[in-house]
Amino acid sequence: MLKERQEDMTPLDIKKYPDKVLRKECEPVGRLTDEERKIFDEMLFTMRHFYGIGLAAPQIGISRKLIVADVEGSVVKLADPKIIEASGADNMKEGCLSVPGISVDVKRPYKIAVTGLDVHGEPVRIEAEGLLARVIQHEVDHLKGRIILDYMGAFERLKFKLNSRKR
Ligand SMILES: [Zn+2]
Repeated sequence: MLKERQEDMTPLDIKKYPDKVLRKECEPVGRLTDEERKIFDEMLFTMRHFYGIGLAAPQIGISRKLIVADVEGSVVKLADPKIIEASGADNMKEGCLSVPGISVDVKRPYKIAVTGLDVHGEPVRIEAEGLLARVIQHEVDHLKGRIILDYMGAFERLKFKLNSRKR
């Protein structure tokens, strides 16, 4: 059966800012086993459940270099992603399941090439542009402990911190 077995899955908890796991540099995966494949499936399921289009492992509390994305039918499951080429520039508001309730203007390259390991542990190279390129870059940021708040101006950020303290 090609369809992923999702019927018996439950969405995982999404770690939210200021959870420390979101700030840690993730460990490389290196070799893919059934364990990582299961994490990929759980990540995709959780991401879709919360209407996300991308998710990184630290967002479910796993500090390892695993990302998933689903943009207009392009499904990406990638371990140890590395952006090796980037060109163009594009500005867009980004949201994040780990930082609910805000969106931040983020300028990023429009087109990228990324390498990594696929679900079978084979090296792959993916070329992406537009929204998919943006999502991949956002998720790769997560693996370095970087979140959208880091793209805010100093004043915007202070305002956000004060507001989140009130909550
Ligand atoms: Zn995010």
